[in-house]
Amino acid sequence: MTTRFENGIVVTLGNNNRVLWNATVVTDGELVTAVGDSAEMKRRFPDAKSVDCSGKIILPGFICSHHHFYSTMARGMAIPGEPAKNFVEILEKLWWKVDRALDEEDVLLSAQLPLVDCIRNGTTTVIDHHASPAARDGSLDVIETAVRQAGVRASLCYEVSDRNIMGGGIAENERFIKKVGKGDGQIAAMMGLHASFTLSDDTLEKCVGIAKQGEVGCHIHVAEDLADREDSLKKYNTTIVNRLNKLGATGKKSIFVHCVHIDENEMDVIARTATIVVHNPESNMNNAVGVTPILKMLQKGVLVGLGTDGMGSDMLVQMRCAYLLHRLANRDPRVAFMEAPQMLLQNNAEIAGRQFGLQLGQIAEGLPADLAILDYCPPTPLSEANFLGHLIFGLVDAVVDTTVCRGKILMQGKRILSMDEERLAARSRELAPKMWARLQELQ
Ligand SMILES: [Zn+2]
Repeated sequence: MTTRFENGIVVTLGNNNRVLWNATVVTDGELVTAVGDSAEMKRRFPDAKSVDCSGKIILPGFICSHHHFYSTMARGMAIPGEPAKNFVEILEKLWWKVDRALDEEDVLLSAQLPLVDCIRNGTTTVIDHHASPAARDGSLDVIETAVRQAGVRASLCYEVSDRNIMGGGIAENERFIKKVGKGDGQIAAMMGLHASFTLSDDTLEKCVGIAKQGEVGCHIHVAEDLADREDSLKKYNTTIVNRLNKLGATGKKSIFVHCVHIDENEMDVIARTATIVVHNPESNMNNAVGVTPILKMLQKGVLVGLGTDGMGSDMLVQMRCAYLLHRLANRDPRVAFMEAPQMLLQNNAEIAGRQFGLQLGQIAEGLPADLAILDYCPPTPLSEANFLGHLIFGLVDAVVDTTVCRGKILMQGKRILSMDEERLAARSRELAPKMWARLQELQ
């Protein structure tokens, strides 16, 4: 079906960003077929279905480069015992119990609800990192079902870790990577790994071998906390990035999440191997682990993108958080104005491109029809020259009205069309207390 998303302000992004007033995006099937002046598009495509975007701004759908859908049911849960006093305790007291307490229906719902959130926030592509040791086998298929129902794009993987008393998850990744193969543009696969301090050389070698055979990247947390770095230096007498590079886990499809505590030599290895880094500012602040040296990495040519680490699905909020954090951390009001939007708009598009084999993050003829359409009446002139100012200080608070992915309208007039949000949330409210009770029993 051909559709005209018309009478809006279109921001094309891409290498030659254009801001077009009173403009229309025409989609046909999964692709954009034309972008231009609204009157002209109406003349050229008179029979197309019309979606009026007056008073709205049309952007490419947002991309989240690191998410944990499975964290959903922890919202509002009381954590047993004394409060965690450091990052390792946060894992031991919270996340390594949440994942073990999930059953198969929890896995499905805890993917469906953040997917609703993604649609609500115009996030059309997600790279997820999943763990559910008690409902592990087939869990990636369950999440795939949720993603297809939601209508967004997602790259999925299972978190392999030697700390798991219930077993690795290597086979779940291997099976899913083989099943997905080159992917269909909607679902992609990666090799999921927890972190250096919970993975032996033997496990890492096995996983890297599977990733290389399947031509996918490794998706691993790197130096999120100082404890991870110290563990590698103590046990292996080398830094994490050098350890992972020696074992073959670097490369242009691999994602090293966080990289808070890495040195310049490690940054150089990351840059040289074209490995991806994903920064999660809200999560780093929440876990009080430190400030990722993103400005230095970007200067060295590292592809640094932006994720939420399960904190939410609103990428504009994450972008502004990065902007504020790095201004404060560097005590320099000249920095991060370019870098924070660059991570979200350009780098995340490049990262997703490497996983899905698609050119995302841009509205142009022949490219995927993924759109985030927000209510926005600019109170000051808006053009290519000052778009970033509007992004950081205005659009971050604008409400998404319509979300389109692969040419399909997933939300219109703020109503989610592909999922029944109220029914899902009601069922999740029934299941969550049962999951919390199982969690209390875990040692
Ligand atoms: Zn994470």
